Amino acid sequence: MDQKAMYSLTYGLFVLTARGDGIHNEDSGCIINTAGQVTSDPNRISICVNKSNYTHDLVKKDGKFNISVISEQADFALFQRFGFQSGRETDKFAGFEGKYERSANGLVYVTEGTNAYLSAIVEQTIDLGTHTMFIAQVTDLDRIDYAPSATYTYYQSNIKPKQKAPTAGKKTKTVWRCTVCGYIYDGPELPPDFVCPICKHGAADFEKVEIEA
Ligand code: FE
Repeated sequence: MDQKAMYSLTYGLFVLTARGDGIHNEDSGCIINTAGQVTSDPNRISICVNKSNYTHDLVKKDGKFNISVISEQADFALFQRFGFQSGRETDKFAGFEGKYERSANGLVYVTEGTNAYLSAIVEQTIDLGTHTMFIAQVTDLDRIDYAPSATYTYYQSNIKPKQKAPTAGKKTKTVWRCTVCGYIYDGPELPPDFVCPICKHGAADFEKVEIEA
């Protein structure tokens, strides 16, 4: 049995946005790779969100969200902004002026590095332990651009910066790198129950690498 067969599944990439708590921020969002249409009449989509994401709680509370579909035009900064920090501590829209707009439901959607947005109202929530699945009816949607949607594979090969090999002669150290988001665990041994603080993937998704010390 090869667990890596899971990597053969294809995924898109999306910015999930929701109304903020009004204290830390007005709006917040995170990156997800699990949005898909589940019925066409009515037009419903499903999303699956890790409960440790701040945006998860916001969607659960407000019952509505927007999905911005990330395109091949997106740069790595978009992933850093929405994926590599938490909305609990930061306003993810600070300094992002001109790169988002507000849809009819009052929520924001991202207009740079994206090709479409969907607004949806939650109809069902399914508790899946680590994640919640939200089944939601699409209430509004529009095209932003005609660039192709970015797949997860495209992100890995074209958007995520390549780790440089250490320069010959430089002192190196052994660390563990998350193959999903690039987070570095600084230490020679990775605890088996380790969970990536950024993307929440487990130890199985880490690889041992040598980097410059
Ligand atoms: Fe990660």
